[in-house]
Order: sequence, then structure tokens, then C-alpha cells
Amino acid sequence: MSDTIVKNLQFIENKIKNSCLQYHRDPCDVKLLLATKTVSVERIKKALQTGHTLIGENKVQELREKHGALQDIPHINHFIGHLQSNKIKHVLQLDVSCIQSVDRLELAEKLNQKLGQKNKKMDIFIQVNTSLEPSKFGISPAETIKLIQQIATLENLHIKGLMTIGLFSSDRGKVRKCYQLLKQLQQDIIKEQIPNVNMDELSMGMSADYDIAIEEGATIVRIGTAVFGERIYPDSYYWNEQNEEK
Ligand SMILES: *Cc1c(COP(=O)(O)O)cnc(C)c1O
Repeated sequence: MSDTIVKNLQFIENKIKNSCLQYHRDPCDVKLLLATKTVSVERIKKALQTGHTLIGENKVQELREKHGALQDIPHINHFIGHLQSNKIKHVLQLDVSCIQSVDRLELAEKLNQKLGQKNKKMDIFIQVNTSLEPSKFGISPAETIKLIQQIATLENLHIKGLMTIGLFSSDRGKVRKCYQLLKQLQQDIIKEQIPNVNMDELSMGMSADYDIAIEEGATIVRIGTAVFGERIYPDSYYWNEQNEEK
């Protein structure tokens, strides 16, 4: 089973490289983030042993459960799930270097305040709802610039880019539109020249569509299923408001 993980990773690395060549991108500019929700510590370790270092969890509870067991193997934690304000204190105890899913001012303000108390700073991405599906988290594209202007004034947060979950659809044209929208937003935000805002990172693309995302400018692709296999929970369990952790 763990051999499969190694093989899957080789396949993905190749596909990323080939997509980069095809679309005239430098392969060094595209990072692979392993989306590890529901994946056991043993299997995550197997993947990290191949030299990959960037992983992302969706739920604070899962991050807490796995955190200790992963400490002896070098890795970087990004948080990619919906974050409730009352869970911030836990995230700050768990060496998360970037929260990719900041999508509202209230969350950013609380995060900024808690970081201040600990004399810490943190990188964040702004999560945008490019598919405009009501069940998905993320700020609407129309409100993104305003939110970034507000968050940019918070001294303990460094905005490093944008994140999106594309439309869940087998229509690749529709998925592509989501990624084009994120790229366009990035360009619009750069033009605003907002102090304390960096737009280098575009986190988009998952197992089914990372080649499209790379073509459209992704710098981080977040891949779970294609590395670790199918999950038992449907993704709606992680992406919908009804399934909040208590
Ligand atoms: C699960 C998840 C992924 C990876 O999805 P796969 O289709 O399994 O590759 C990426 N991003 C987020 C936010 C996720 O929750």
C-alpha cells in the first residue's frame, strides 16, 4: 500500500514537470502540497520520506491528533480548511506556518490579536470562492480587494497570495474559469499596490485538475486523492458549513 504512495508521487511529480514544460513554466515555481485529511500518520510519513515537505490539514482536531507523531520528520504545515475563530489558539500551538483559508475580517482580526499576544507573525492566503457555490467557503471575488485592504493593516499578518477550491465538476472548462478568475484577481490586486501585501502565491488545483491549474498560473497545487487514494468521507464533510467542529 505504501509503495503505491511512492509510485503515485512519482507519477504526479512527472505530470507537474510535464505541465510546466508544456505551459512554459519553471518547475521550481510549482510546489506540491499534500492534502492529508483522513490520512493516517504512517501514510503521511511514507510520503514525507520521499522528500516532500509541504502538507495541509483541514481540521484543527486532525492536525492536533497527528502533530506529535510527525514531529520527528521535517515538514511544513499549512492549514487549508475552514477555520473557526475559537480554534485559532490551537492552530497557533501547532507550528502552522501559513493559513491558506482566511476569508473574513473577523477571523483575521482575532488571528492578528492572538499572534500579537505571542509576539508572533504569520503568513496567510486569502481564500476566494471562485466557483460562487453557496456551500463553499471563501470571500466572493467582488469583495476580495476590499477585504485585502482591511487585512493588510493588521501588523502580525503577511498576505502572501490567494487560494481557491475550483468548481467540483467534470466540465474542465468550468473548472478552468475558476482558476482564470483567481489569476485575474491576483493581477488586479497587484495593480492596487497595497502596502504589506504580496501576491506571489496562487494555491489552486487538486487531484483531478492540477494540470489546468498549472497552465493558469498555480504556484501551489494541493493534492490528496491522487497520492493517498480515495477518502471515506465525501468532501462536503470538510467544505460545508453544516459540518462545523464543535
Ligand atoms: C481535500 C482537499 C484538497 C485535495 O483534494 P483531492 O481531490 O483529494 O486532491 C485540496 N484542497 C482542499 C482545501 C481540500 O480540502
